[in-house]
Amino acid sequence: MKKVGFWYSKDEPLLPKPMSSKNKNEHSAEFINKCNEWINLTNQIKNYDAMLMVKHGANISDERYVEYCSSASCRLCGHSNGNGEYNYNGFTFPAGLFHYIVDHNIAIDEEFKKMILASQLLDYKSLKIMTRIDKLLRQMSGSNALRYE
Ligand SMILES: [Zn+2]
Repeated sequence: MKKVGFWYSKDEPLLPKPMSSKNKNEHSAEFINKCNEWINLTNQIKNYDAMLMVKHGANISDERYVEYCSSASCRLCGHSNGNGEYNYNGFTFPAGLFHYIVDHNIAIDEEFKKMILASQLLDYKSLKIMTRIDKLLRQMSGSNALRYE
């Protein structure tokens, strides 16, 4: 997995800072459309996960989309920028990466760009889910509850 879109913070001062490109044609309209689709996808996943909890007491439990407890804010505008992370087609990238591309015109890894252009969106209904009871049973049986199947 190649990591793309992880930025510096107090905890990780060696990571790069996101930089807006001076080139107004940094990204094609096609690529920006794709990025907007990923932004919508992240919102759909959040709604789906909330629905699963209400209806089935379950959550998404899939390495293709993971969420962290704390939410990141955009390093450039301070906007709250989510806590999701995708592992998809050979890349690991924060869900918030697309905000930087669409709203701040940052330059981005060419291979990542090619992957996004060439790939279908993740089908969120194919994400594995796990109920609270499953999680509890797993913890009790001593297996590592944080591991994904
Ligand atoms: Zn921003």
